[in-house]
Amino acid sequence: MNETQTFDLQALVRPNIWELKPYSCARDEFKGMAAHVFLDANESPYNGPINRYPDPLQETLKARISQLKGVPERNIFLGNGSDEAIDLVYRVFCRPGVDNVVAIEPTYGMYQVCADINEVEYRPVLLDEHFQLNAQKLLTATDEHTKVIWLCSPNNPTGNDLQREEVAAVIRNFRGIVVVDEAYSDFSDLEPLRFYAHRQPNLIVLNTLSKAWASAGARLGMAFASEEIIGLFNKVKYPYNVNSLTQDYAMQLLSQPEKVERWVNQIRRERENLLPALSELSICQALYPTAANFVLIKVTDADRIYHHLVECGVVVRNRNRVKLCGNCLRITVGTPQENNELLGALRQFK
Ligand SMILES: *Cc1c(COP(=O)(O)O)cnc(C)c1O
Repeated sequence: MNETQTFDLQALVRPNIWELKPYSCARDEFKGMAAHVFLDANESPYNGPINRYPDPLQETLKARISQLKGVPERNIFLGNGSDEAIDLVYRVFCRPGVDNVVAIEPTYGMYQVCADINEVEYRPVLLDEHFQLNAQKLLTATDEHTKVIWLCSPNNPTGNDLQREEVAAVIRNFRGIVVVDEAYSDFSDLEPLRFYAHRQPNLIVLNTLSKAWASAGARLGMAFASEEIIGLFNKVKYPYNVNSLTQDYAMQLLSQPEKVERWVNQIRRERENLLPALSELSICQALYPTAANFVLIKVTDADRIYHHLVECGVVVRNRNRVKLCGNCLRITVGTPQENNELLGALRQFK
């Protein structure tokens, strides 16, 4: 991917955000190591260590994530789930009632919810019947007020990798921001795009601890981007957006990356077992290629099968009312035992 020649970040940022003087918290002002008496933040002296405000820029955790993810620390933003980063993209770049964003459809629902909350026009562009994007079609949907294009690969709820050449063409030819959500990239064979985020001035890549890293309850999301974009996110975020319990927990988890690798390999193996078993079911009309920890299956009657599964105590995601996903269920890969329960319940459906 080439550097975008004419990229002008300031022209994309909301003027009030570009000018914003961020809140300066006690822990920002004092950076020295020598002090041992902290009377600067009106904290309680009791109940340590949770009595102290957390590091607002999560420097220890970022150093660890930098090693594991292969992205320089200064190109990392950490947030309260990737959902925080998604919302920040709107608050940094999109003027309410004026600007718009373009996104693939179908995709992850939060891009539209955050657009609606921020009063930003959301322009969905339908994928083709293989759930692939056409770069030209996306670019045609943009105008001079389009600040952001949302891509998600592997895509949710379809499960497939987006074609790399088309993604690259969007990044190369769009003068605004391109976000690629790689929440599921650990389950894919493609090289993650996050390795390009610090060199490509208009690219933001999202990651999360919620899927492969098995920590949805901890709420930790990541954005990888240029130092300038990370600086804008840091200016707009809540000062203490990642609490100290989560920072400590994540440090512990990330000290055992081999454990996470085992989980991911296990899920990938289970996915390969689950796919043929699903395709042999009489209710299966189509099974779509997946590079994620879930699979999209088209069935004979999604609503009735969904309710049958609920009665058996098995919950999947009914995507019947999503565009291009008529009669589709989205099924997460579970443990071998859970997957067997799912298959047993599906075989009972009449
Ligand atoms: C699950 C998911 C996320 C995770 O969001 P968090 O707020 O980090 O839990 C992000 N993007 C997509 C596409 C997802 O499916």
